[in-house]
Amino acid sequence: MGTQLDALRQALAAESGDSTSSFEGGKWADGVVSWSFSADPESEASSSYAQFVALAQQAFQTWAAPSELTFQQVPDSPQADIRLTWSQLNTTSTGVLGYTTVETADGQMLPGAVVRLEDPAQLGVTADANGQLAYSGTQAEVLQVLLHEIGHALGLGDNPDVNSIMYPFASASNRTLDATDLKGIASLYGAGSTAPSSASGTQGSDGKVLAALSSLNELILSNVAAFSPAASATGAAPGSATATAGLAAQLAPDQLQLSPHGT
Ligand SMILES: [Zn+2]
Repeated sequence: MGTQLDALRQALAAESGDSTSSFEGGKWADGVVSWSFSADPESEASSSYAQFVALAQQAFQTWAAPSELTFQQVPDSPQADIRLTWSQLNTTSTGVLGYTTVETADGQMLPGAVVRLEDPAQLGVTADANGQLAYSGTQAEVLQVLLHEIGHALGLGDNPDVNSIMYPFASASNRTLDATDLKGIASLYGAGSTAPSSASGTQGSDGKVLAALSSLNELILSNVAAFSPAASATGAAPGSATATAGLAAQLAPDQLQLSPHGT
């Protein structure tokens, strides 16, 4: 695992600032994409749920303009194109904030893509210095996590541009769509789109980085040291993070992994 991490970090360093998007190998064929956000009935009555839904609406609106897609919120069902939900991702020990799985066939996204977000019942959320809802003790804003994960659900992969919303670590440097993201989404959905739409479509000059990034699917990263004691108290049990402390020490303290994503 250490070797995998080293390979990833070397590849990212070599390509840092590269403005090339990578892709999941599929796109939505219809211009109207439905989405839902489900939780158990008790959670849906919570103020956190209302906050997450409002931020999800904002995230979809943000992607709507550059993709020219129309997003439609629907009651949750297996027929919804993109299903958002909370999941206990054990962020304090794993570093994972979100996890998205998509299925494609012949270059098209299939309904039922699932976006899992760290459950605020496990790691609390609070307003950060910008007044934005963020996971306690981290620099990761909920909107940022939503934008990243929805990016995956629309067909974008992780990329090595540190300012891109699709960079696989959440920091203060990548909270909004940058030029790479706008170019990437436009190449998928814009007029004369040229992005690869087949499952083999991860060509490009940064194949090495793409290979390293894809290993994130299995890789567990963490920055346990960046969590405040208060945040830890709401998350994993004391001491449970020690196993990943070695990995944590290798990462910059202001970085937190956004999401390994399924393929
Ligand atoms: Zn990602």
